[in-house]
Amino acid sequence: MQLLSDRILNMATSATLAMAAKARELRTEGKDIIGLSLGEPDFNTPDFIKDAAIQAINDNYNSYSPVDGYADLKQAIITKFKRDNNLTYTPTQIVVSTGAKQSLANVAAVMVNKGDEVIMPCPYWVSYADIVKLNEGIPVEVPTTIATDFKMTPEQLEAAITPKTKMIWFSSPCNPSGSIYSKEELRGLADVLVKYPDIYVVSDEIYEHINYVGGHESIAQFEDMYDRTITVNGVSKAFAMTGWRIGYIGGPEKIARACNKMQGQITSGANCIAQRATITALNAEPSKVKYMIDEFKVRRDLILSLLNEIEGFKTNTPEGAFYVFPNISHFFGKTLRGKTINNASDFSMYLLEEALVATVDGGAFGNPDCIRISYAASQEQIIEAIKRIKEALS
Ligand code: PMP
Ligand code: GLU
Repeated sequence: MQLLSDRILNMATSATLAMAAKARELRTEGKDIIGLSLGEPDFNTPDFIKDAAIQAINDNYNSYSPVDGYADLKQAIITKFKRDNNLTYTPTQIVVSTGAKQSLANVAAVMVNKGDEVIMPCPYWVSYADIVKLNEGIPVEVPTTIATDFKMTPEQLEAAITPKTKMIWFSSPCNPSGSIYSKEELRGLADVLVKYPDIYVVSDEIYEHINYVGGHESIAQFEDMYDRTITVNGVSKAFAMTGWRIGYIGGPEKIARACNKMQGQITSGANCIAQRATITALNAEPSKVKYMIDEFKVRRDLILSLLNEIEGFKTNTPEGAFYVFPNISHFFGKTLRGKTINNASDFSMYLLEEALVATVDGGAFGNPDCIRISYAASQEQIIEAIKRIKEALS
């Protein structure tokens, strides 16, 4: 009998985590790799949040929490949704999970049936397609290009809808393109969706605060979208808390209850110390973490100006998150240092081997003409990395 399930054999490895592991491995071999593959802030978690966690340990928060999160954490999430997004939720509409990744996995597990279609504007975050496929759903990719700032238009959305469409999944600010949907653009998508009342929306807003143009907009703010939107968020990015593993959703009560049931059989409540620290993080004014956003903006401008000096890199201007997603198809078919570049995967591997810079193949995000570069790294590292890339391509 086959040892491993078809389920796992058919699943792709997370390309972001795989590249990070490869970079780590090469470093232990003594290679001086600059890691621009993983999307994680290089800042320390702010002291006021760490202090709350230390306090929680000393206060003996060592037992199982409620599966869907402590009541006072859910209250902090409700206050945050009201303060930042003008969204009104009750506690039964909130579920706290072990990272936004688990929030997304819960939603797919409780909503997707075999053959259901999930529309995702391409490029999308690396794990969306595999989470949907794990639940026997079908990811329906809607390709976008730099010309529309990698955003899906209402016409494209409507053309992708079929009787099997269950949901649309997207992130704004977007990982990997950094694009942000304006209120008008979200309204444009909503105007299509009102014609199809059975379609739900998963709005991944984990980069909400990493926004260089100001004014985050949630699609659930529209009355006709509220009842069918699951808003996903978490503390990994804005508060430099990737390893603490806290994410959450706000959405229709039926879906939240189902996620609670699912999580109760799989992982139980999220880490109790991290939940206590998250209360402090979310209750803080967003201005308390602005120093990180300001620095990301400086780095965005830096990396864009450096990349634009390299022939063959075409970029949009990312308005949020901490990634650039250049189109590098100019290099396809070329042979560099004896290595032929046929696709973005070859290109990313070439940069790893010849420039010692780790990036991620855009194919993992549904766009095989691009690579993703994370600029959640110091300015010195960015300057050195792009210098090495330039040399390796000259
Ligand atoms: N959504 C997007 C768009 C992301 O970039 C990430 C980053 N890992 C996640 C969800 C998951 O975040 P986490 O599980 O760390 O909360
Ligand atoms: N979201 C980050 C990224 O896209 C972290 C890695 C992951 O969770 O896959 O790089």
